[in-house]
Amino acid sequence: MKLMRCLLLCLCLCAGTARAEENALYVRAVDGLPEDFIFGMDVSSVIALENAGVRFSDRDGTARDLFALLRENGIGWIRVRVWVNPYDEAGHGFGGGNNDLETAIRIGRRAAAEGQRLLVDFHYSDFWADPAKQQAPRAWAGLSLDEKAEALRQYTSDALAALQAAGADVGMVQLGNETNGAMCGERDWDSIARLMNAGASAVRETLPEARICLHFANPENGDAYRSWAGELAQREVDYDIFATSYYPYWHGTLENLTGVLGDIRRQTGKDVMVAETSYAWTLEDGDFSGNTIGEGGSYEHPWAFSVQGQANAVRDVTEAVVNAGGIGVFYWEGAWVPTGGKDWEENHRLWETFGTGWASSYAGVYDPDDAGRYYGGCACDNQAMFDFSARALDSLSVFRLMRTGQDAPIVPEALMDAAVALRAGAALSLPETVEAVMTDNTRAPVGVTWDESAARAIDMNVEGKYTVPGTAAGLSVTCVVTVSSKNYLRNGGFESFDTSMWRATDLGQTAQLYREEKAVDSIEGKAHWHFYSAPANTVRFTLEQDVRDVPAGEYRYEISVMGGDCHGQTVYSYVKINGEEAARCETAFTQWNDWHTAVIDRIRVADGDRVTIGLYVECEGPGAWGKIDDASFR
Ligand code: CA
Repeated sequence: MKLMRCLLLCLCLCAGTARAEENALYVRAVDGLPEDFIFGMDVSSVIALENAGVRFSDRDGTARDLFALLRENGIGWIRVRVWVNPYDEAGHGFGGGNNDLETAIRIGRRAAAEGQRLLVDFHYSDFWADPAKQQAPRAWAGLSLDEKAEALRQYTSDALAALQAAGADVGMVQLGNETNGAMCGERDWDSIARLMNAGASAVRETLPEARICLHFANPENGDAYRSWAGELAQREVDYDIFATSYYPYWHGTLENLTGVLGDIRRQTGKDVMVAETSYAWTLEDGDFSGNTIGEGGSYEHPWAFSVQGQANAVRDVTEAVVNAGGIGVFYWEGAWVPTGGKDWEENHRLWETFGTGWASSYAGVYDPDDAGRYYGGCACDNQAMFDFSARALDSLSVFRLMRTGQDAPIVPEALMDAAVALRAGAALSLPETVEAVMTDNTRAPVGVTWDESAARAIDMNVEGKYTVPGTAAGLSVTCVVTVSSKNYLRNGGFESFDTSMWRATDLGQTAQLYREEKAVDSIEGKAHWHFYSAPANTVRFTLEQDVRDVPAGEYRYEISVMGGDCHGQTVYSYVKINGEEAARCETAFTQWNDWHTAVIDRIRVADGDRVTIGLYVECEGPGAWGKIDDASFR
């Protein structure tokens, strides 16, 4: 199921009447949030955007300096990436903000004017460095490790001196970006540690007050993090902060994040923090260039894709970091908005000219396989904390509001799409409620009204996927109806020799209990499940199967039995949902060739439910026998 996007219900009620610092955001205060906890934002693309004509404004639409707006909303630190030379030989920028040292200096100076400190994020590359890409700058290609370490040290030292001379208040220096076992073209920890220590010595000499930060991605893999921390310690890498990216779509749960950061802090004695995080406020795209998080992707989305959902995400990530004893959270590219062209062609010209897209075509000389093929616009304009016209979203205020909290009505603000799976020929049955995501990110069922004409148009005899629109709590929602005759049971007719998916449990003294091949005793095909009791024995067993990969929906379970000489019998089919019996249907063994089918209909399965079907047979001999066949779950 995916989250439906929608606007905050009460957004319209506030516009025009509220004072600039008031909004309708609900924010639960973060318990134990230290006074000196760092809130930062990476705004590396801001200079390119402003060059292209973007003007940032506050929530009322008044043009404002971006840095002042961020400071007023509780953001005391600015993060900026630095590429060694993101230009081709003719001077065309690679894009992604064309973030060379000169750009970082301009950003550092602007931040300092607002009293904001700077985290300088050296990628030690000419363009994006991440777990998949750790290419050395062209100027350093072909250097020996010793030469590369010296070039990196000198570059770091010169860059920091220039930043300081320009008036930037560099408080942290990040040596490499998302260096998951690779950095600047090196892929072994001895070489990486050598480069990191070269950078660290430059920081200690040039800016002794600045703190050194190392940065990794994929905290969902706690073992990797603990192992990397060990590699660093073993080689005595000099650093102060172990930082991580945390993108909720792929990077595990908040509980895991807290656990992993806490482990690293205890293991290393270093500070920990989140150096990058973000969350989408809409699934729409603002610049005709597709977004990483858009419609139809496969990723986790624990919050609504709304302004309130984005604020909830930041608030909850902060709480997870505080709970780990961490020192801060930096939001990634919170101001990377669309350049504002009316179509792709106009935007393309702006991306190429000003470097406001993720990559320009010119980056192909350095990164031919990715940037060279897929260059384009901003892939995260829906994760900024500004709308597509660069106007501040209410979510931007979450950084200051989570210190005190702010009340707002708890109302449904997004809906989960519904889905039902029905067997062909069944009557259409749509859910009476859908799940709403509330302002505070709790979930609640709300009554739904479905579009009757769309429902009537579904031909339940034709397999396929149908969509029925509906309305709940004033919001739109859809129900996807899957009509299928797929049998979710494996080997339901016992025709395959492998019966490992079936679980027969003898609870009495059933003499024979196995798959048997005998066409005349099968309802269909040549095989079935067989039991027999020798004289005086008691038959008592269950035959079960765990139903795998069954999507949410409504189902029907059938199983057929035939047999005789079963005295004092108790026979029923049953369904267990999450280990609890949800329904049963009695049936009986009568005589040869007299098949009885036990049917359990309208079985409701929700996402993630564990479903088990079974048959219970209890009777007395002597000579009780029976055949079981043709089980289905559709
Ligand atoms: Ca986009």
